[in-house]
Amino acid sequence: MPIYEYRCNNCHCKVSLLVKGFAEAPQAACTRCGSKDLTRLFSTFARLKTDQDVYEDILGDTDLVNRMMANDPKALAEWSRRLEGSEATKDSEYAETMERLERGESWQSIVSDMQAREFGTAGDDSSEED
Ligand SMILES: [Zn+2]
Repeated sequence: MPIYEYRCNNCHCKVSLLVKGFAEAPQAACTRCGSKDLTRLFSTFARLKTDQDVYEDILGDTDLVNRMMANDPKALAEWSRRLEGSEATKDSEYAETMERLERGESWQSIVSDMQAREFGTAGDDSSEED
């Protein structure tokens, strides 16, 4: 899961928050003073990314996801660009996603499918591992 770093504009402390999903990000609050006036910082830790990290990164990017849900073509391009060069572009899931987008399927339904797969939140379809 992505960890976001914020700077609190009220008490100026640095806040690290574990974000469980993109829906949670807007409710982030300073752990010290409770202020919601936070400025998102780019993560300072670098590590090798797996495909899943790439997905989590993208899904954790509230702004990007919101724009994609609004069918902003630039956001789709940005998403493709982020996946480019990662193993994910060779992945059937990537191909499937692009295909579904091209069929006009809503980004939201694709994201929830993707999240169900990545994070195991699916009710009935999660019996792949054995
Ligand atoms: Zn604060």
